[in-house]
Amino acid sequence: MMMRKTGDHEGPMGTIAISGSASGIGAATRAMLEADGHTVIGIDLRDAEVIADLCTDEGRRSAVADVAQRCGGALDGFVSGAGLGPPAPAASITEVNYFGSQNLLEGLRPALAAASGASVVQIGSNSTTITPNVPDALVEAILDEDRRAITAVLDDIGEPFDSAIAYGASKIAITRWCRRQAVTDEWVGQDIRLNVIAPGAVQTPLLERGDDDPVYGPLTTQLPVPTGRGTPDDIATWITFMLTPAARFACGSVVFVDGGSDALIRTDDWPSTFST
Ligand code: NAD
Repeated sequence: MMMRKTGDHEGPMGTIAISGSASGIGAATRAMLEADGHTVIGIDLRDAEVIADLCTDEGRRSAVADVAQRCGGALDGFVSGAGLGPPAPAASITEVNYFGSQNLLEGLRPALAAASGASVVQIGSNSTTITPNVPDALVEAILDEDRRAITAVLDDIGEPFDSAIAYGASKIAITRWCRRQAVTDEWVGQDIRLNVIAPGAVQTPLLERGDDDPVYGPLTTQLPVPTGRGTPDDIATWITFMLTPAARFACGSVVFVDGGSDALIRTDDWPSTFST
C-alpha cells in the first residue's frame, strides 16, 4: 500500500513505526502522521505501543518482533529516531544511536518489503559534519560491529568528551550504513526508499540535557545557528514529507535541516571535487 500524501485523506492510510516516539522529534512526527489518519506504532522506553530498550540486543529483537506482529507483516514506513546525546554515557550513545537503528532497519526490512512503496527515514544529525576530531577508527569499529575496538577508542578519548565523539561517530556510521544499503537490491530493489534527515540544534529534552550540563552547556549554547534553534515540528515536517510518494526520487539522500550551522561551519567542504 502506497502511503498517501500528508494532508490527503483519500484512500488507504499507512502504518508507520517510529522509534523514539515518546518525545521531541519522534513525538512531533507521530502527531503529524496521526492527524493525517495514519496508524503509528510507537517504539520507546515508555508511552508507546512497543516498549523496548534499544540499548540491548534483547530489546531490539523484541521490538522488531512486536512491530512485525502489530503491522500484520507489512509496514508502509519506518522513522528511526530513538537517540541519546551528550552527556549520556558514550557506550549507551553508540548502542542506541547506531545499533538501535541498524538492528531495527535490518529487522523490519522484510515487513517494509511486503508493503509496496515503503519509505524509511533515519534521523541523522549535523554532528556528522560539525563535530571535530571524530576518529575514523571509531566509525570503522562501529560499522564493523567490533565492540572491543569501540570501547578501546572511547577509553582512549576518556570522559567527558568521549560522549560527544561517540555521538558524532554513531551518526556518521548510521548515515554511511543507510547510504550503502539504500541503493542495493535489498532496499531500492524491493521498492523501499531509505533516506536520512540530519537535524541541527532542535529544542528537545535531548538538547536541553546538553544545555544543562556543566561541561557541554557552554558548547551547545554557543553553537552558531543562523536561523536560531529549530522546533520538533520543523523537523517532523521534513520527515513526513520524505514518507510520501512525492519524495519518491530521493534514495540514499542526506538532507541537512539545521538552520545553517553546517553551511556556516563547513561552507566549502562539500560538495567537493574528486579525481578518477
Ligand atoms: P528526545 O530526547 O526528545 O527523544 C528521543 C527519544 O528516544 C526519547 O523518547 C527516548 O525515550 C528515546 N530513547 C532513548 N534511548 C532509548 C532506548 N534505549 N530505547 C528506546 N528508546 C530510547 O530527543 P530528540 O532530540 O527528539 O531526538 C530524536 C532524534 O533526533 C535522535 O536520534 C537525535 O540524535 C536526533 N537529533 C536531535 C537533535 C537535537 O538538537 N534535538 C539534533 C540532531 C539530531
